[in-house]
Amino acid sequence: MLKIGHEVVRPGKNLGDAPVAIPVPEELETVPGVPMNQREVDWYAREYPLETMNITERASRDWANNIRDQHVEMREIRKEHDKLNKSLIMAARLTGDLEPTAQPAGEDVSQAIKDKAHELGFIEAGITAYDAHYVYQSKKDFVKFPHVICLAYEQDFEPTQTIPSVDAEIVHSSTYRTEGAASLELGNFIRSLGYRAQVHSPNDNTGPYIPMFVKAGLGQLGACGYLLTPHVGSRCRIMMITTDANVTYDKPVDYGIHAFCQVCQVCVNRCPGRALMRDKIWWRGVEKNKLYFKRCRPVMARYLGCGICMKVCPVQKYGMQKTMDHYAATGQVLGKGTHDLEGYELEGKGYFGPGELPIFEGGFFDMPHGDAAEWAFDQFKSKAKASGGQITEDLIEDLKRDINRALSLSDDNIAMMDQDSDYI
Ligand code: SF4
Ligand code: SF4
Repeated sequence: MLKIGHEVVRPGKNLGDAPVAIPVPEELETVPGVPMNQREVDWYAREYPLETMNITERASRDWANNIRDQHVEMREIRKEHDKLNKSLIMAARLTGDLEPTAQPAGEDVSQAIKDKAHELGFIEAGITAYDAHYVYQSKKDFVKFPHVICLAYEQDFEPTQTIPSVDAEIVHSSTYRTEGAASLELGNFIRSLGYRAQVHSPNDNTGPYIPMFVKAGLGQLGACGYLLTPHVGSRCRIMMITTDANVTYDKPVDYGIHAFCQVCQVCVNRCPGRALMRDKIWWRGVEKNKLYFKRCRPVMARYLGCGICMKVCPVQKYGMQKTMDHYAATGQVLGKGTHDLEGYELEGKGYFGPGELPIFEGGFFDMPHGDAAEWAFDQFKSKAKASGGQITEDLIEDLKRDINRALSLSDDNIAMMDQDSDYI
């Protein structure tokens, strides 16, 4: 039995559930939240402000969507989801201008908001300051209020265990829609308490959300790049509401995950794209395992959104309490090395059990890069080079067409539909 350094007690997953106690062995203790150098965070936010990958990696996003649309069943499901989801996104965009519907009574409403969030089906709700270091450039004038309510909605267990699959993709999209609708209700509730509430749709991100969830004590960043929450790990969809309500901030927590991931490494070992880093690096002022985006997107595009790093995580499958109890008792990672946890099937490629990874043909990871305009110029340069430096009328016409398209994209609802906060 390992020596327990401290215990984290969290409210139960659903309203009325008993609290859970998560033991954190002394050898896994690091810092509450994530190791961070605030001066570096400040510097990067000022010199290299964040932008959504729906803009900065638009060329590969369009490429990936074209590939995904070749899957006939998924194309129809995705179309239906986009149709249903659009009204939720548009409704969320208007919420910042809605007036409160009552006079505030003056008392702290933190617990009332959290209780209502649980009643609406959210499994986690925490409060902290909205951190403008993590706002996308294209959204910086959008965010209106100083406090943020961080919210997580559980994604159903069974379909998630079949990742990557059509069933898992269906539940992934429907969870976004369910929480999108629940958050509009929560916004109404906050306005009924006398305060303003701006809903940040989970599919119209105003920035990467995980840093604020960590600050609010709702989990820690896993080696997979997702937030690992206490009850369901990464098997949840996250979103936020900003508000001017009278609230108290929660504090970051050390669940032991920062160190545990270095012991576990299951997602790192099982990633078919070899896109996850074994070791941590310092990135934009935070110590983390950084995802190789260029090795992830080609797999996601071809294999139903992939998500194997979510499926194989013991915290997703068994919860943090059981995972940590087991580690404290045995020094072993629960489920590691078993087919049940680590096995997965890739459509057209077969089944891969523990220790087995697919091999991809040459060129598999080649994809367009940069934003739409950068990619148009790149294409123009390569074609001009291939024709011995001849800039033909046809080349100029192609470039004009592509640049015009890129300019029109910069005005459209660029961030809609893809959540990319997990990958910053
Ligand atoms: S989504 Fe798939 S390819 Fe991307 S990091 Fe996770 S396991 Fe690897
Ligand atoms: S699979 Fe293991 S290493 Fe990966 S995020 Fe989950 S706990 Fe961390």
